[in-house]
Amino acid sequence: MLIDTYRHKGMRKGLVRIVERKGIKDIKVLKALEQVPRHFFFEKAFLEQAYQDKAFPIGEGQTISQPYTVAYQTELLEIEPHDKVLEIGTGSGYQCTILLQLTPHVFTIEYNEVLYHKAKKQFQLMGLTPFTFLGDGSEGLPEHAPFNKILVTAGAPIIPKTLLRQLTLGGKLVIPVGDTALQKMFRITRVGEDDFLKEEFDNFKFVPLLGKQGWK
Ligand code: SAM
Repeated sequence: MLIDTYRHKGMRKGLVRIVERKGIKDIKVLKALEQVPRHFFFEKAFLEQAYQDKAFPIGEGQTISQPYTVAYQTELLEIEPHDKVLEIGTGSGYQCTILLQLTPHVFTIEYNEVLYHKAKKQFQLMGLTPFTFLGDGSEGLPEHAPFNKILVTAGAPIIPKTLLRQLTLGGKLVIPVGDTALQKMFRITRVGEDDFLKEEFDNFKFVPLLGKQGWK
């Protein structure tokens, strides 16, 4: 059963303060972080870890991202309430749930079958209705494109051109790119049909993006 107590809410407020002190300013993002019970995405034995600003194993060699990283990527996306958003790397479903606080139009794709089914069940338990997909998201979701925002939550070796082509005009892709040890966060905005603005941000360490446009 999913229970969100005053103690959890208090711990969440503490987490929001930590993330705010690290530089996250967007009130809507901070509010989303305060609203979503991160402990719902943890096994019972690890509930205490849910409100630390740390990544944590979710099985299958994957992790739920650090709250600061989730807030950082979400802030860069500048989500508007009408935006259609694609998340690549559903993982636990936590980041997707944060996105759902900002827009109801969220598509999320996961490569790992076990995690896909687990996240799908979690969304059902929480009464959430993102569009969930199982498969290689490194090539996006062409049949549902275009998207106003695309978020990659795993470290990519390159910026896949196929993802850029799935952005609307004015759309943004947020993606960590680098080697498997360290990645730089990039934000690419489609400013014209074949014109893209590329911005660079801080370094992060993500699990690798797999699939055709990812690590082999
Ligand atoms: N967003 C997740 C969350 O909130 O828990 C954390 C994501 S975890 C850091 C990265 C996820 O990307 C893993 O679940 C991994 O299986 C998934 N992944 C890796 N390559 C992928 C691909 N090509 N397509 C879709 N998902 C992929």
